[in-house]
Order: sequence, then C-alpha cells, then structure tokens
Amino acid sequence: MQSLTNRSKQVSNKEMTLIERAYLPAILNGMLITIKHFFRKKATIKYPEVKREFAPVYRGMHVLKRDENGAERCTACGLCAVACPAEAITMTSAERKPGEEKLFREEKYASVYEINMLRCIFCGDCEDACPKEAIFLTDRIVPSDSLREKFVYGKDLLVEGVEENKRVDISKRQTKEVLEFKNNKELQHNRLK
Ligand code: SF4
Ligand code: SF4
Repeated sequence: MQSLTNRSKQVSNKEMTLIERAYLPAILNGMLITIKHFFRKKATIKYPEVKREFAPVYRGMHVLKRDENGAERCTACGLCAVACPAEAITMTSAERKPGEEKLFREEKYASVYEINMLRCIFCGDCEDACPKEAIFLTDRIVPSDSLREKFVYGKDLLVEGVEENKRVDISKRQTKEVLEFKNNKELQHNRLK
C-alpha cells in the first residue's frame, strides 16, 4: 500500500547473532551504566532538611498586593479571571464607602476574591493580565492537604499584610518594562486617588 507520508520505515527482520542471543554483553553493558551512576552527584536532596533555591521567576502561590499606603490594589475588574485558562479565579465586587479610602485604592474593590488552587496551573496569566499590579505569583508553596475544600483560597490567605514585615517581596518578578510602567505617573493606573 502506498504510504500517505514519507515517514514510514522498512522494518528489519534480521536474525540475531550468537552474542546477541546470549544477552550477556547487553546485561554487562546495562550494569556498567548502573555502576557509573553510583559515582555521580545525587539528583535527590534530603527535603525538608535541605531545600533547593528557587529561580527568581518561580511561579508559586499568589499574593494580592497592597499599595505603598496599605490599601488593596485590586479593583475587581475581573481581567485576571477572564485571562485564567483554568477558570480558577472568582470574585465579587463591591463599592467603596466614604471612609474606606485607606482600605481600598479604587472606588470598586473585591469584597470576595477566591482562587481554586486545585484548578490553578500556575501559568502566570493572571499576573500578566492585571492592569493594577495587584496580583503576583510568588516563591511560596501551596501547602498540601487531604481535604479538597481547603484549596479554595480567599482574601484571608491571598492579601498581604499591612505591616512592613508582612509584605511579600515581588521585586524580582517585575521586569524593566513593568517598573517603567509603574513609575509613569501620567498613566491613570498609577495615580493615587
Ligand atoms: S496562575 Fe494561571 S491558572 Fe492560576 S489563577 Fe493565574 S491565570 Fe489561573
Ligand atoms: S487582581 Fe488585577 S486583574 Fe484581577 S480583578 Fe484585581 S485588579 Fe483586576
């Protein structure tokens, strides 16, 4: 039959030689490869006593950032949820009331913001989509658990603390372009209300 592609190969039906039939050289060769690995540096480490250093752009658990005055940056625009290929993000928006300016940066904020960590594939699309620099992935690991319902993370776990020592450092995730954008006070996004 004529092949539809040019990738087909003629199968060889060659008889095995006497050495090949004995299997001994193949077994010795396999053992040599195994012995060679005894003298190589081990690929494994004794976790959790020893921990590997993460790459600066490692994508771990998210953080919802506050601005320099401690107000939540997220304005519940929903762009992160739309960009999420796993549909892991859900939120409810609310209107800021007079007197809440110190809590929320914009007039609209997320009263509920949830990420289902079991759905998340840590692609970072939410971080890229956010126009407010509100959501970033970090080097924090999502802890394991045997109950599925514990993996829906709300604002209590996602929003960083107000105090200086509770802020999550995301400086290594910010590219030159992001920093330039952030410093451009002409842009509406960067103006403090
Ligand atoms: S990292 Fe990707 S999958 Fe996870 S919440 Fe963000 S956009 Fe969705
Ligand atoms: S995290 Fe960013 S993209 Fe997502 S709703 Fe908040 S402001 Fe919008």
